[in-house]
Amino acid sequence: MKFVNVIGAGLAGSEAAYQLAKRGIQVKLYEMRPVKNTPAHHTQNFAELVCSNSLRADGLANAVGVLKEEMRILDSLIMKAADANAVPAGGALAVDREGFSGQITEFLSNHPNIEVIREELTEIPEGPTIVATGPLTSDALSAYIREMTGHNSFYFYDAAAPIIEKDSINFDKVYLKSRYDKGEAAYLNCPMSEEEFNAWHEALINAEVVPVKEFEKEVFFEGCMPIEVMAKRGRQTVLFGPMKPVGLEDPKTGETPYAVVQLRQDNAAGTLYNLVGFQTHLKWGEQKRIVQMIPGLENAEIVRYGVMHRNSFINSPVLLRPTYQFKTREDLFFAGQLTGVEGYVESAASGMVAGINMAKYMLGEELIEFPRETAMGSMAYYITHTSQDGFQPMNANFGLFLDLPGRVKKKEKKALYAARAIEKINECKELI
Ligand code: FAD
Repeated sequence: MKFVNVIGAGLAGSEAAYQLAKRGIQVKLYEMRPVKNTPAHHTQNFAELVCSNSLRADGLANAVGVLKEEMRILDSLIMKAADANAVPAGGALAVDREGFSGQITEFLSNHPNIEVIREELTEIPEGPTIVATGPLTSDALSAYIREMTGHNSFYFYDAAAPIIEKDSINFDKVYLKSRYDKGEAAYLNCPMSEEEFNAWHEALINAEVVPVKEFEKEVFFEGCMPIEVMAKRGRQTVLFGPMKPVGLEDPKTGETPYAVVQLRQDNAAGTLYNLVGFQTHLKWGEQKRIVQMIPGLENAEIVRYGVMHRNSFINSPVLLRPTYQFKTREDLFFAGQLTGVEGYVESAASGMVAGINMAKYMLGEELIEFPRETAMGSMAYYITHTSQDGFQPMNANFGLFLDLPGRVKKKEKKALYAARAIEKINECKELI
């Protein structure tokens, strides 16, 4: 009988295995824990949440909330377990982590179409396979994938600055200008007075950081020093570093500010901007507080938080189709953080798309590309169509969605994006 190998029973692999098994496909689900552990997992459960127990915002005012709703509509195992194990968390969906991963482990282990094999795979086997081994893919398999995809197509670290929505920037304060007006004006500049800088610097050096794990320290030695570490070395380190104001006079006053935070365009559509030189290890809540202290960013909507952790991911724009199928081997799919989506929910959602499409492949049906009007489709499009140079993982956000037609009032945008996504995903439900 034909079967599919799913490597890795994390968020993505568990969802993919479920999507296959429920369509009558036999699955061999390989998970290396507890035979071999990762540096961040603590249990032998499937879909273990390695850090926070939050699956972030619920409700349709936020792209990750829309993504969760899409997954519910398409019958996601991860969402069923999350909803069944929810704990109070305001507008967010947080879960009892033991109950959540315990339920998923028990369900998949007892499924008649799934054989669980506790073993580290060091190569991708022949035959239909989904690779979902995550940001902490074991060294041996990482080496294999690196060899298979080419050395420039496999990354080990993710040291990224926060990315914000252009729509949330206050252009009464922020101005467009390149240093010394060299070339085309390309940067957005947030000017700070001495007083503003002092208050901000004080807040930054006292903000809470995520504890650095031993295996992650290496990243700091690669010229990617977090902004908070730089700030602790002294005010001058940042004033002569990423916040250097020379050549950036404010056109409104003609004066050079005391310090400047620069924003660089992050996507081709020009809807997203990153904070230049602001890679950070601050906790997410703290990042929001510190970013919103910057003049002009008081209402900044962060679509991707800064991270500095071990994160293996392939160069999906070169290697994958929006169905998560490998371009040069049609019975091979990748899923999860390894593809360059970022976050628990995004990883599970990509596992869902890969699982549905692998099932279609096995059944000889046409694969499905989820439309760019949906959160799922917009992520698949981002990872497969974004610039190949400097490709960085991304959380779900409205900036990735296909633009709305015509002129739309800013405050109505989110509701329209959400309504359109839900309508489209219901149409897709008929096709899968
Ligand atoms: P995983 O959930 O990691 O699953 C991969 C599975 O593959 C693991 O069970 C692993 O044991 C197994 N495996 C690895 N190699 C092999 C092999 N060779 N053979 C067999 N099995 C193998 N996202 C958030 O939304 N919130 C957070 O708070 C958050 N914190 C993070 C903290 C850290 C330290 C890291 C590294 C990531 C964090 N992420 C967070 C990002 C990401 O969303 C999670 O890592 C998520 O678990 C990724 O899902 P996945 O299915 O791709 O990988």
